[in-house]
Amino acid sequence: MTPKSGQSLLFIAFAGVVIASAWIGGLVAEQIALGRLEATARERITIYQSTLVNAVDRLQHLPLVVSQHPAVGRLLVDGQGLEATHSYLASVNEASDAAVIYVLDRTGKTVAASNWQSPESFVGKNYGFRPYFQNALAGGSGRFFAVGVTTGRPGYFVARPVSAPGALQIVGVVAVKLELDSMQADWREGGENVFVTDENDVIIFSSNPDWAYRSLSPLPAEARQRISANRTYGKKEIAILEADQAGNFIRLSNEHFLSTKTELPSYGWQLHYLADLEPVAVTRWLTSLALLIISGLSLFGFLYVRERRRKRASDKEAAEARAIRGINQRLEAEVETRRNAEAELRDAQAELIQAGKLAALGQMSAAIAHEVNQPISAIRTFAASGRLLLDRGRTSDAVETLDQIAALTEKIAQITGDLKVFARRSDDHLHPISLPNSVEQACVLFADELRAAEVTLDRQIEAGDIHVLGNSVRIEQVLVNLMRNALDAVRERPGVRRITIALLRDGEDAVLRVQDNGPGIDDAAMKRVFDPFFTTKPIGEGVGLGLAISYSIVEEMGGRLRAKNAPDGGALFSLRLKCMSVDQLTGEVEAAE
Ligand code: ADP
Repeated sequence: MTPKSGQSLLFIAFAGVVIASAWIGGLVAEQIALGRLEATARERITIYQSTLVNAVDRLQHLPLVVSQHPAVGRLLVDGQGLEATHSYLASVNEASDAAVIYVLDRTGKTVAASNWQSPESFVGKNYGFRPYFQNALAGGSGRFFAVGVTTGRPGYFVARPVSAPGALQIVGVVAVKLELDSMQADWREGGENVFVTDENDVIIFSSNPDWAYRSLSPLPAEARQRISANRTYGKKEIAILEADQAGNFIRLSNEHFLSTKTELPSYGWQLHYLADLEPVAVTRWLTSLALLIISGLSLFGFLYVRERRRKRASDKEAAEARAIRGINQRLEAEVETRRNAEAELRDAQAELIQAGKLAALGQMSAAIAHEVNQPISAIRTFAASGRLLLDRGRTSDAVETLDQIAALTEKIAQITGDLKVFARRSDDHLHPISLPNSVEQACVLFADELRAAEVTLDRQIEAGDIHVLGNSVRIEQVLVNLMRNALDAVRERPGVRRITIALLRDGEDAVLRVQDNGPGIDDAAMKRVFDPFFTTKPIGEGVGLGLAISYSIVEEMGGRLRAKNAPDGGALFSLRLKCMSVDQLTGEVEAAE
C-alpha cells in the first residue's frame, strides 16, 4: 500500500466515524427531545383535562336545583304556571350561562324552556329518544353529548328527574344543555392540537374544526344504529379521519404528532393531545449537523496540524540535508585544498631534493676537485723538477721525484677508489665473518695512531665468537671509518682521550658500539652525518664519504648503522647485524669445504 492510498483510507475511515457519530448524536438528541415532549404533553393534557371537566361539570347540579323548584313540579303535575316556569327557566339560564334549560314531561315532550320565546324554542319538541331523558326518567342522572336536533349545534346535556311535590313519583325531567364553543375557541387560540373522542371513537370537541365528527376507527353497524336512534350527531355524516398511527405516533394532514391521551371514564370520553414532532426532528437534524460541522472542523484541524507538522519535519529534513550537503562541499573543498597542498609539498620536496642533489653535486665536485687538484699540481711540480734533474743528469734525484709522483697518483687512485665503493653496489660474496676478529684487525691498524695521539682504547668484547654473514674487508672498512672519526673527534680534546669499542649479543643480533669522549654531534649535523659529502672537517682533511659508505655497506649486509650522542657526552655509533645461527654456520662451513 502506498502512503497516499493509506492516507485516503484513513481519511475515509475518519469521515465514516464522523458521519456515524453525527447520526448517533442526532438519534440521542431526538430521544432526549422526545422525552421532554412527552413530559410537556403530559403536563398539557392534564391542564386540558381540567379545563374540559370544569367546562362540563360546572352546571351539573343545575338540573337538580331546577327540578326542585315548585313551579316546575306544579307545571308537570297539573299544567299550571307555565308562564312562571318559562320566566324562571329563562332567568336561571341567564344567570348560569347554560345554553338552554328545559322541562320535559314523561313522554319526552318539552313543556317549558328557557328559550320559549326564541325561534329555536324547544317547547313542544319531543326528546324522548335521547338517552339523557331516558336515564333521568328511570331515576338516574342523564348525561349525554349530542348535536342539537333543533339548533344543529353540539352540546352536552345533563338531566334530572322531577318528582311530584310530596310524592316519589317521577313526573318529568329537567334538562340543561351546555354548549362548549368558547372552550373550543380557547383551544384553537392556544394553537395546540387537542380533541375529545366519545365512546364511539368520534371526535366531539376539537381545537381543529376540520377534525370534528370524524371517527378514529370505522364505526361498527351496531354503533351506527344506536347513533341514528339517539341522533347523537344530528344530521352530520361521520367519516373516518385519515391518519396513520404507529404506537404513540400519528400522522395527520401530513404532519407528524406524538399522541398522548387520557381517559375520562365518568363521561366515556378520551382526551387526546397531539404534540407536534417537528421540533424533535429539527433538534435531531440540527444536532447531527452541529456534530458534523464540529467533527468536520476537528478533522480539518487535525489534518491541518498534521500537515503542518509534516511540512515542518520535511523542512527540517531539507535544512539538515542542505547543511549536510554544505558540510560535504566544505569537506570536499578541504580535501581538494589538502590534495593541492600535498601536490605543492611534493613539488617543493622534489625541488628541494633536486636542489639538495645539486648542492651535493656542487660539494662533491669541490671536494673531488680539491682532493684531486692537490696531488695533480704536486705531480705537475714534481714532473717539472724531475725533468730539470734529468736535464742536469741527476738521475737518482729524478728517480726519487718519480717515486713521489707515483705516491701522489696512489693518493688520487685512493680517492677514486673510495668513490667507486660508494657508487657501485657490492656483488661480493657474503661469507661468515668473526666480528671479534674484525675488531681486532681494525685496532691493530690504528694502534700506532692511537698511541701517537695519546688516546686510550677501551675494548669490551663479549666472550665467545660472534659470527655474522658479510664481507670482512668491508666490515673492517666500516670499523676503520668509525674509529677514524672517533680519533678525529678526541684528537684536540684536552685531558683523557678515550675510545670505547664494545661487542655484545642482543637476542639474535650482534651489536658493535664505537663511542668516544669527544664533543659529540650537534642536532643539525646529526640529521646529515650519513649524507654523502657531508663533512665538518676542513678541506683536505675530510671528504664526507666515510659514514655514507659505511651506512651503505651495513645496509647491504642486512644490518643497521645508527648515530647518537652518548648520555655522558661524545658520539656513539652502533652497528647491528644479525648473528649467524649454529646451523647456518655449519652449513656455510660445509659448503666452503
Ligand atoms: P669525514 O670524516 O670525511 O668528514 P665522514 O662521513 O666520516 O666524513 O663524517 C662526516 C662528519 O660526521 C664528520 O665531518 C663529522 O662532522 C661527523 N662525525 C663523524 N664521526 C664523528 C664523531 N665520532 N664525533 C663527532 N663528529 C663526528
